[in-house]
Amino acid sequence: MELENTNKMNSEFNQKKHPHRRYNPLLDEWILVSPQRANRPWQGQTEKVLEEQLPSHDSNCYLCSGNLRVNGDKNPDYKGVFVFENDFGSLMKEDVEFSDEQQDFFSLKPERGINRVICFSENHSLTLPEMEVNDIKKVVDVWQNQYEELGNLEYINHVQIFENKGSVMGCSNPHPHGQIWAQSSIPSTVLKTQENLKRYFDKNGSSLLEDYVNKELEADERIILENQHFVAVVPFWAVWPYETMIVSKRKAENISQFSDSEKISFAEIIKNMTTKYD
Ligand SMILES: [Zn+2]
Repeated sequence: MELENTNKMNSEFNQKKHPHRRYNPLLDEWILVSPQRANRPWQGQTEKVLEEQLPSHDSNCYLCSGNLRVNGDKNPDYKGVFVFENDFGSLMKEDVEFSDEQQDFFSLKPERGINRVICFSENHSLTLPEMEVNDIKKVVDVWQNQYEELGNLEYINHVQIFENKGSVMGCSNPHPHGQIWAQSSIPSTVLKTQENLKRYFDKNGSSLLEDYVNKELEADERIILENQHFVAVVPFWAVWPYETMIVSKRKAENISQFSDSEKISFAEIIKNMTTKYD
C-alpha cells in the first residue's frame, strides 16, 4: 500500500519567511533566525518610558558634583567628564594567594581588576544623545585615556568600556554615566572573537571586519548610519532586538588608535545612534 504524500510542494526558500540559520564569523557560531515569529501578537511585558523631567542637580544622587558617595568620599565640583573608582566594584585590585588545584567540575580562579565609573556630564538630567557632539568627544577622549592607562598596568589584559542604560538593564541611577571594567583575564567571547579575526586574516590576508563592512555598504540593506570614519550596521547574525555594531572604516585594533577627527566622527555616530534608540 502506498501512503498518500501529504507534504505540500516545497516552496522556494525566502529568508524573510522561512526559519534558517545564520553564521556569525566573529564567534564561529550559527544562530537560529525565525522571521515568522515576529508576526505573533505580543502580550508580554512592555516597558514604561520615563517622562518626568529630572533636575540638573539632585542632592540625593551619588554621581552629582559636590555630593557624598556611600563610602563617604565627596565628589569634586566637577564640570564635564568625571572618573572615579567604583565604590562597589565587581573586581578587586588586590592580588590573593591561590593554589591552582585541578577540580573536574568545580574549577575557579580569582580575578583581579579595576572598576571605574565615568560621569559623562555634571548635568544630572542629560542623556548621552542629548549632549553636544563636542561634549561626547570629550567622553571619547576619556575612554581613550582610560583604555591606555588601565591597559598599561602589568596585570590588566582586557579593558571593557560600556554603558548600561535604564532600570531594565539594572542601571539604578539616571545620572548620565558609564563604566569601565579592566581585568586580568580576557573574557571568553573576546578571546574567541580575536581567534576568529586572526584566523580570517591568516587565510585571506585582509581584515574580517573591514571586508564585512565593505560588503554591507555594497548591499545597503542593514546600514543604519554612515559618516566619514564609521558605519553603524545591524549585523547579519544579530540575535537581540536593536542589536547594532559601530565599525571603524579604517582598520584599527582598538580605541587608542583613533585620531582626533575619528573621535569626532565616533562621537557623532554615537549621538545619532543613541538618538534613534531613544
Ligand atoms: Zn546626578
